[in-house]
Amino acid sequence: MDTNPSIQYIKGVGPGRSRLFERKGVTDLVSLVHFFPVRYEDRRRIIGIGSVRYGRKEVVVGEVYRASIKKARGRSIFEVIIRDDTGYLALVWFHFEYAYMVKRFRSGSRILAYGDIGSFGNMPRMIHPDIEEFDRTGDDTLSFGRIVPVYPALEGMSQRIVRKIMKVALDTHVGTLSEYLPEAVRRLYTLPGFSESIYGLHFPGDEVSVEALNQQTSPFHRRIKFDEFFFFEMALAIKKRQSRHRDGIVFSPSASGMMDAFEKGLPFSLTDDQRRVVGEISGDLASGYPMNRLLQGDVGSGKTVVALYAAVLAIGNHYQVAFMAPTEILAEQHLRTIGSLTRGMQVRSALLKSDTKPAERKRILGELSDGTLGLIVGTHALLQPEVRFRNCGLIVIDEQHRFGVVQRMELKKKGNNPHMLIMTATPIPRTLSMTAYGDLDISIIRQMPPHRKQVRTLLFYRKAQRQGIYDLLRQEMQKGRQVYVVYPLIEESDAIELLAATKMYEELKREFYGFRVELLHGKVRGEEREQRMADFKEGRISMLVATTVIEVGVDVPNATVMFIEHAERFGLSQLHQLRGRVGRGAEQSLCILYAHSLTAEAHKRLDAMVRTSDGFRIAEMDLEIRGPGEMLGIKQSGMPDFRMASIVRDIDILKTARDAAFDVVNGVVALDRSDKLMLYHHLRGYGSRAVSLIGV
Ligand code: ADP
Ligand code: MG
Repeated sequence: MDTNPSIQYIKGVGPGRSRLFERKGVTDLVSLVHFFPVRYEDRRRIIGIGSVRYGRKEVVVGEVYRASIKKARGRSIFEVIIRDDTGYLALVWFHFEYAYMVKRFRSGSRILAYGDIGSFGNMPRMIHPDIEEFDRTGDDTLSFGRIVPVYPALEGMSQRIVRKIMKVALDTHVGTLSEYLPEAVRRLYTLPGFSESIYGLHFPGDEVSVEALNQQTSPFHRRIKFDEFFFFEMALAIKKRQSRHRDGIVFSPSASGMMDAFEKGLPFSLTDDQRRVVGEISGDLASGYPMNRLLQGDVGSGKTVVALYAAVLAIGNHYQVAFMAPTEILAEQHLRTIGSLTRGMQVRSALLKSDTKPAERKRILGELSDGTLGLIVGTHALLQPEVRFRNCGLIVIDEQHRFGVVQRMELKKKGNNPHMLIMTATPIPRTLSMTAYGDLDISIIRQMPPHRKQVRTLLFYRKAQRQGIYDLLRQEMQKGRQVYVVYPLIEESDAIELLAATKMYEELKREFYGFRVELLHGKVRGEEREQRMADFKEGRISMLVATTVIEVGVDVPNATVMFIEHAERFGLSQLHQLRGRVGRGAEQSLCILYAHSLTAEAHKRLDAMVRTSDGFRIAEMDLEIRGPGEMLGIKQSGMPDFRMASIVRDIDILKTARDAAFDVVNGVVALDRSDKLMLYHHLRGYGSRAVSLIGV
């Protein structure tokens, strides 16, 4: 027998209904049994009509007293009055088929009804109730006398029909839904069996509470959520284990005197956190295993110097380094930083851009392939096939949320099993990093370099306040400080928005006559953009009106005000990133949020920005508000959208499942051969998306 028949061969379905199911992604038995109720109704208690309460959902049984068509406000309604010993109740339909209704509600027959209690005149009534003929109800009624599942609406198919199909399918096939979690894992985490859980989710008995079911915290829900996390984490654990081959390049810290020279040349001493992370990285680089490390640190926490430490170590060991940044502005800035921090050392570096002139490009590529260049900085341009290294030993990826998993892998292929350091300034809540980056080792810099003042954040949303804001900006510029004005541009190509940004710029230029105000957006290309950025950095521009091209990484200590227009259109993490552009010098800095329209939700969000500057806290709120997909960009992150489980609400289950998965893969939980086969077989089927996404 086919253990997973396609949906149309399941009893009660057929070709017509199978199309309705398919629209919801239900194509076969397995997907049918995973088509879970969205909520549950408690219809166990039948009460006397006399004691129904308005505004509640109740179940009653009554005898048909009268059934008739009535006119109400010009429309026909079908009304059935039922009664029991305690009172009368009206059942009302606005849409009905007369002949069918008359036959159905013969006077004297007994009816079960469930619905919201409302009133009309002085008689309680139910509009479009769920009903059943009481005397025909056997013990196996699916819609009464039990906790009743309510499924996602399927156009053209009633809940009663879906319940019936589900019940028959489960009763017929439940035996083929075999367990795939090893007994040892289930026992350790007290999880109910698979078929029991599936059955319980559709037709729960009295052993679970309706509240638990509706909050998705029943043991059955826990089991299915556990499965979703477990198989994904299994795939990560396998991947992580596979990368643990002892074939990494060994960088010796004492290979040359370069490390000493580098540290001595730094204009500051490292913070404790930086020092600890440098230790973690040097440990990786000397371990013989290839490094796969994610370095998280809030904007301005000083990640670049840590990455450079690793780079100098690689170069000192005669290996080359690739440094990839998401924007040209950032790549240029990195090249300058690298130049100044390695002054006087034997480090030859270059910048490769998409518009690098052919002659220069040829020279750079030549020096890269013959090994003259120690370090190359670039954007996506580094991924081009012509970019070949002599021996790339370290890859650094900055602001990695701008790159996808695939690009990470592509760059890695440029070297011979190189070490990899990935950096992000978007603090990621731990639960997210356990899923999205579960195969990486993680280092965190929480401490900011000393002498930083916290940025003050102000929120405005009234037109009348604009002049006051302008006065503030003017005061700062008169003191010789610089100002960013950021205008949102959802799509770089969106001409209308660009026009709005340009208009804004014209207005500001007039308002601040006498100061140099410049505009920077994605369409300003190459040299011009570079020049403008350099002018701002050198203090020749007082106000830079920009779209979000300046969002990541840009470092100008003399800029003390960040003025964000349409702040309501930005996500929390993005606002936090932008705010991190100021407060980089010793002066008190200011972040001004201006909202043009403010919903209650947006107000709450922006208020959070005013109240906290903890990037990790902000990231958690962002995750709660926008969900992981929006926050990371699902496609880029390589993370599946779990069907039932949520990495926001089900943190405990996630942690448990992750521990379990890693214990299984690393042999901490002992499994016999058949357990293992069962697991791996299932990992390929059920978790195939997860598996293919992360390339197991
Ligand atoms: P991010 O982590 O956002 O990439 P950067 O690496 O750009 O941060 O560093 C931000 C600024 O802090 C830079 O100007 C850098 O020179 C400075 N900085 C980094 N580490 C220290 C330190 N230990 N003490 C003082 N300043 C530091
Ligand atoms: Mg940076």
